[in-house]
Amino acid sequence: MELLKRRIEQDGKCYEGGILKVDSFINHQMDPRLMYKIAEEFVKRFDGVQINKVVTIEASGIAPAILVGYVMNLPVVFVKKKQPKTMENMLSTTVHSFTKDRDYTVCISNNFLQADDHILFIDDFLAYGNAALGMIDLAEQAGATIAGMGFIIEKAFQDGGKKLREKGVRVESLAIIDDLSDCKIVIRQ
Ligand code: 5GP
Repeated sequence: MELLKRRIEQDGKCYEGGILKVDSFINHQMDPRLMYKIAEEFVKRFDGVQINKVVTIEASGIAPAILVGYVMNLPVVFVKKKQPKTMENMLSTTVHSFTKDRDYTVCISNNFLQADDHILFIDDFLAYGNAALGMIDLAEQAGATIAGMGFIIEKAFQDGGKKLREKGVRVESLAIIDDLSDCKIVIRQ
């Protein structure tokens, strides 16, 4: 997606350890117009795929996911990183956080992820694929189908994309970063 790639070139910042900072338009301050165009691009790419629900993981996936749900006119559910005492029929799994370097338990209510669901999973970044694999585990527990996964930014030099595609998951990434070494952002054209 050209608009997104140009914005990453213009405003993205590179950090040690293969981290791309996009907090001026995605992760902290957000650009709603860009986010809406991101949602439209996901909708275009998943056109014709059977989807009845959009699922994401808090916090940074919520903004793009809710706009995708708005454009597709579908409900949006987010996987929670804290287990509320009041959650009914909880499904949970463990996810390793790349940016925080720790494991945490994430959960979703079975009431909102069911066996007849065909879900589109949306997230901001695809790095090693831990969040996405956690989502696959939750979907398996519920008996739900993963219709596809959409990421705003995929870091191709980490192997999440490879893992998911090898599992047969339909993955769409709107900007693919091939390298971040030497603090240079190399975007696939
Ligand atoms: P994964 O689970 O694929 O290993 O990592 C994806 C999650 O880690 C994303 O939801 C995102 O929040 C965070 N993440 C991974 N890499 C980056 C990065 O380079 N920059 C930012 N801002 N977040 C990242």
